Amino acid sequence: MSNDQPSAAIEIRDLKKVYAGTKKSGPKEALKGVSFDVPEGQVFGLLGPNGAGKSTLINIMAGLVNKTGGSVKIWGHDIDRDHRNAKLNIGIVPQEIVFDPFFTPYEVLENQSGMYGVAKALRRSEELLKAVRLEDKRDAYARTLSGGMKRRLLIAKAMVHSPPILVLDEPTAGVDVELRKQLWDLVGELNAEGVTVVLTTHYLEEAEELCERVAIINHGELIANKPTRELIGMMGEKIVRVQVDKDLGGPIMEEAFIKAEVVEDRVLEVTYDKSETTAGQVLAKVQEHGYAIEDVTTREADLEDVFVQLTSEE
Ligand code: ADP
Ligand code: MG
Repeated sequence: MSNDQPSAAIEIRDLKKVYAGTKKSGPKEALKGVSFDVPEGQVFGLLGPNGAGKSTLINIMAGLVNKTGGSVKIWGHDIDRDHRNAKLNIGIVPQEIVFDPFFTPYEVLENQSGMYGVAKALRRSEELLKAVRLEDKRDAYARTLSGGMKRRLLIAKAMVHSPPILVLDEPTAGVDVELRKQLWDLVGELNAEGVTVVLTTHYLEEAEELCERVAIINHGELIANKPTRELIGMMGEKIVRVQVDKDLGGPIMEEAFIKAEVVEDRVLEVTYDKSETTAGQVLAKVQEHGYAIEDVTTREADLEDVFVQLTSEE
């Protein structure tokens, strides 16, 4: 909307949120001082397990949750000091689908345009319906739309004021493969037109497919902020779980592999880089240390493992 170029599309500094909570549960620290930038023009992924604080962060940007501390700038506009311009420069699709069931998709977009003060001549309702492939549902009641159609309509609704930033909270949680593909295409098209996109997800596959850069939060803390390629590199790890014939003791092969951890008296889990090491080499090392192998399983590192590793690096 404004022409002055901000240094980043979104700047988040020391963002904190404490929910008051109930008498029973007590206060909940959902964000513990999170800072990062979303570079302009990117598709940026915000990853984290359930309860990490992703929706809290997004709802603060949307003005739906009041922050406890820190600052957020959207397209250079502070959400406290310049609320109006901050709001005009972002479109947000919340995690929960909420609609008035008695409006048609066309009316939903027109009403939203009215709320943002978009002049009739500048409205894009038809164009947006086409972009989200709902032109043939233009005059259907929202309550008759499928879940996937509702999600697409919400994306169109978030774009009525042509914001340079679009934020999607878990756009593909619980949707089928075909719709997921459609949403990915839509994100790609919007980004190609210059829209900076932020999306939260817990599918690493999705981040891998769409996002240039990824921030990971866990328990309200930022634990990584890197190009997706680097993060995926960490997924090149494999884990072999070895059961041996006697209790494990003493220092065990730490030097040779990424990590070697005694998880039960007689069970060892070794993490190794699969481009450098084979499971056979790991097993040979175990035997060299005087243990006989009774059982072996291997698995690929997944996002959980990356979380664990990143958290333990702190
Ligand atoms: P995510 O979107 O990453 O799953 P949320 O931001 O929804 O995480 O939640 C972060 C933490 O804050 C969770 O522990 C959640 O239970 C808590 N929380 C979220 N909303 C509220 C609320 N309105 N009142 C109290 N606690 C909340
Ligand atoms: Mg959430």
